[in-house]
Amino acid sequence: MAQSTLDSMPGASTGTVVITEPLNFWGGKRVKPREEKNAEPVFEPATGRVLCQMVPCGAEEVDEAIQSAYAAYQKWSKMAGMERARVMLEAARIIRERREKIAKLEAINNGKTITEALVNIDISWKSIEYYAGLAGTLAGQHIQLPGGAFAYSRREPLGVCVGIGAWNFPFVIATMKSAPALACGNAIVYKPSPMAPVTAVILAEIYKEAGVPDGLFCVVQGGAETGSLLCHHPKVAKVSFTGSVPTGKKVMEMSAKSVKQVTLELGGKSPLIIFKDCELENAVKGALMANFLTQGQVCCNGTRVFVQREIMPQFLEEVVKRTKAIPVGDPLLGSTRMGPLISKPQLEKVLGFVSQAKKEGARVLCGGDPFVPSDPKLKGGYFMSPCVLDNCRDDMTCVKEEIFGPVMSVLPFDTEEEVIQRANNTTFGLASGVFTRDISRAHRVAASMEAGTCFINNYNINPIELPFGGYKMSGFGRENGQVTIEYYSQLKTVVVEMGDVESLF
Ligand code: NAD
Repeated sequence: MAQSTLDSMPGASTGTVVITEPLNFWGGKRVKPREEKNAEPVFEPATGRVLCQMVPCGAEEVDEAIQSAYAAYQKWSKMAGMERARVMLEAARIIRERREKIAKLEAINNGKTITEALVNIDISWKSIEYYAGLAGTLAGQHIQLPGGAFAYSRREPLGVCVGIGAWNFPFVIATMKSAPALACGNAIVYKPSPMAPVTAVILAEIYKEAGVPDGLFCVVQGGAETGSLLCHHPKVAKVSFTGSVPTGKKVMEMSAKSVKQVTLELGGKSPLIIFKDCELENAVKGALMANFLTQGQVCCNGTRVFVQREIMPQFLEEVVKRTKAIPVGDPLLGSTRMGPLISKPQLEKVLGFVSQAKKEGARVLCGGDPFVPSDPKLKGGYFMSPCVLDNCRDDMTCVKEEIFGPVMSVLPFDTEEEVIQRANNTTFGLASGVFTRDISRAHRVAASMEAGTCFINNYNINPIELPFGGYKMSGFGRENGQVTIEYYSQLKTVVVEMGDVESLF
């Protein structure tokens, strides 16, 4: 087993890691790509160096992975929930034991700080623990019918599920999809983003070590073409997708051809509403947490910050002071609070949003520039300074579109009625937030938000027990929480006659 990448982590530092092991996994082992010809370099965001090569899987490889998952599904689905739970708990234990090594590899591949990566890995093993706890509780209903007849329902798995993930939470997304899928008795073939391909295969190795049947969790590498092969494959029962709205639409269309179930976790442009009666320091901290985690590359970020006019000057002063103080630099240092963006094109795109905002009349209060850390090894990294934009209007590009970078747009408002209408005036609906000390107002606003989540007096609190997902074009279906069992299982009704058949014919 190729554990050497992980084993080299304790001594590894930024700019030193090169990964040469195969990144595909099916049939219980890492699998070398059949052909190397379409290899794409994967960059270490902190240095701009090549970390490894990602070789996309073609049709035969995708089919091999799916067949291997199907074979594993035949065994796994026949096990009792409690037996599955035992294996899953062992996987969670192994992740917990290796949390530091996995977090380091994640930070190297993604650019997020080691502090955040550790939190992410902890969310991941908790997710597996949580669904292991539910695996033994899956049950149907017994329904009495006239004449002693009865029916019962069985909660059954779907079969082979596919997970397609984004690059911002590579290990978390792989576990959030696989944990409920496996708990319900499914197998899953997971395709990570081509920009962050290295930790999903570590998860595959851990599941294997914990004792899942070979093929139960497979990893196929690739981009749009490989994703499309997965969505079209006739043996796939469900596709759970995390990514942008345009790709989500394509995934839904492709999956519709063979009527696969679909979960879509898509983008957002979420509002955070700060009333003048808030506890200001908490609201400021909340606004930072809503905008700057993982360099602002978080789907549910509250990037439209509506601030009641009376407190705008104090709010801006405090938010700018704290934003300027965010230490940007080497993601592997414990003191760093912001690392590089995922890629050069992403950095250029985000900087482009800032220039466009300036052209449209926004005022840059801080940041929004490329940032070159003093450490020479980080010179080629994709860093920028976190940005706060003032003077924003609802019709500006920076306020309407998902930027997916560390850019906060601040907008003044006067009344509750007005801000609710403006907050909901978007095609997205992933999350929302409100800061106020008025308890009735807090719940009134929460009820009015056209979004899958509303945070009251905090932001970006997403523990595994809580359902997470979008309204409107931010998607449908849910991840996390008990409800996700429904998205990875189906009900069979069994009707039992106890007497004679009464025929009309
Ligand atoms: P993306 O849509 O470009 O890619 C997502 C995944 O889809 C990748 O694995 C990619 O290779 C694959 N893909 C691309 N084209 C495909 C196709 N035609 N068929 C099948 N698969 C295809 O998104 P991204 O840039 O990786 O991620 C950023 C986006 O993800 C943002 O919009 C963000 O808001 C969203 N996101 C949402 C959530 C959520 O839970 N709602 C979480 C994280 C990220």
